[in-house]
Amino acid sequence: MNSAPARPPRSLLLVHAHPDDESIGNGATMARYAAEGARVTLVTCTLGEGGEVIPPGPAHLTADRDDALGEYRIGELTAAMGELGVTDVRFLGGAGRYRDSGMMGVPDNDVPGCFWRAEVDEAAGHLVAVVREVRPQVLVTYDENGGYGHPDHIQAHRVALRAYELAADPAFRPELGEAWRIAKVYYNRMPRSVLAQGLAETAAKAPFPGVAEPSDVPGVVDDELVTTVLEGSAYAGAKAAAMRAHATQITVDGPFFALSNNLGQPLVATEYYQLVRGALGEGRPETDLFAGVDAC
Ligand SMILES: [Zn+2]
Repeated sequence: MNSAPARPPRSLLLVHAHPDDESIGNGATMARYAAEGARVTLVTCTLGEGGEVIPPGPAHLTADRDDALGEYRIGELTAAMGELGVTDVRFLGGAGRYRDSGMMGVPDNDVPGCFWRAEVDEAAGHLVAVVREVRPQVLVTYDENGGYGHPDHIQAHRVALRAYELAADPAFRPELGEAWRIAKVYYNRMPRSVLAQGLAETAAKAPFPGVAEPSDVPGVVDDELVTTVLEGSAYAGAKAAAMRAHATQITVDGPFFALSNNLGQPLVATEYYQLVRGALGEGRPETDLFAGVDAC
């Protein structure tokens, strides 16, 4: 009697720049796959030390005062992942290995040890070790512009795509584990028409003093570039709770939220992706990141 070979468990790896990016971009996706029993691994590349702080209580933590925001944001991220049911959370190279580089053009871009200054292959090596350990079929990260031009997001893209290549090369640092080819790579996306409708609703109904511009929102593309749509209404509550857990960074109000600039954006539970490596599974658009993947 032949028994079918056991299929490997589903494993999803997400690479993000700062604590909070994962909940805003992928909160419903992460909650869904965690609830379905997939392995969900988050790798965050910096502690977000350079962020502003919205509430007055912890305002002293910012880099220009106590410079203690990174440690505090580890706690926020831990709480957020609790809301999503995600237990495998790591910082690239260990917590504090790479510092937040700040927005493009600020002096923090040149501080030694910041993520923007990291050598890509060295940083990718840390991620290769994770890839070879958790053996993801699916990798989610940003496009080559980091979604909206933030240096740490651009660097996260470079490191993630480099690790995708290196992890599959048996000649690259075999001490990091057996080579592993990730089947599918996706970029986070926001369809232009969906965003336009969401921003119009935000302008009409949201309680914030202003509304974000499309250029403030990461990953905006023409609708036809979106290959994959994850309808996340069952996880909308978990996503909103995870975003609330990042209280230094995000104000959530009903179906809207704002960052420290206090410009309203729609809080969307449906999340959008563009497949950029590997083959699409069934359905146009796909409704499952693992579509066509040999996993259970
Ligand atoms: Zn970020």
